Amino acid sequence: MTTYEAVVFDHDGVLVELTEMDLLRRAARAAFEDHGVADPPDALVEHAARGELDDLARIEDDLDLPLADYWASREARAIAHQTDAVADGAKPLYDDVTALADLPHRKAVVSNNQHDTVRFVVDHYGLGDHFEHVAGRDPTVEGARRRKPETHYLDAALDELGTRDAVYVGDSPKDVEVAHRAGVDSAFLRRSHRADTVLDREPTYEVETLTTLAERLTD
Ligand SMILES: [Mg+2]
Repeated sequence: MTTYEAVVFDHDGVLVELTEMDLLRRAARAAFEDHGVADPPDALVEHAARGELDDLARIEDDLDLPLADYWASREARAIAHQTDAVADGAKPLYDDVTALADLPHRKAVVSNNQHDTVRFVVDHYGLGDHFEHVAGRDPTVEGARRRKPETHYLDAALDELGTRDAVYVGDSPKDVEVAHRAGVDSAFLRRSHRADTVLDREPTYEVETLTTLAERLTD
């Protein structure tokens, strides 16, 4: 039996369904409009939607638009679009999130999504009582550069919880990687959208549902 003091969860693809790429493209375009760019090149919209900062930095030369200024708008638009989607039922909770109640561990959320988006989701679905610590990225270029597999936000959560006796639960290869870098165990949640995902690092656990994970962590 393996016990942990804490279980830390990823957000998108674990607690709630993924955000549609088209929503993020619309947010990126709206942010360009905020800066007077009515018809941005598709490639830049794609870089902005995907958060590819190094490629997006071309806007400084090509559009004379400071990256930090554009990114602040992009994040504000992404938060607004996503919270609207949640409120409209377009970003539903996974049914097996009920398994959180079966985990006596201390719990936290660490996400690459914006903090305000994650906080809205946790509050909207009434999950707040489960978690001691909820963290998404700061809506800045610096915040984006600290996304997983960088350990910044996971380290902060573990410091807040006061333990490294923990497992990080995520649905992406970067989640397994960030757990490794932070020195904690990992659980890869292979939901249907990850059926073909190949991991480059072996997770401590691989499960298809949070229900199975809860069984593995409590039996
Ligand atoms: Mg995820």
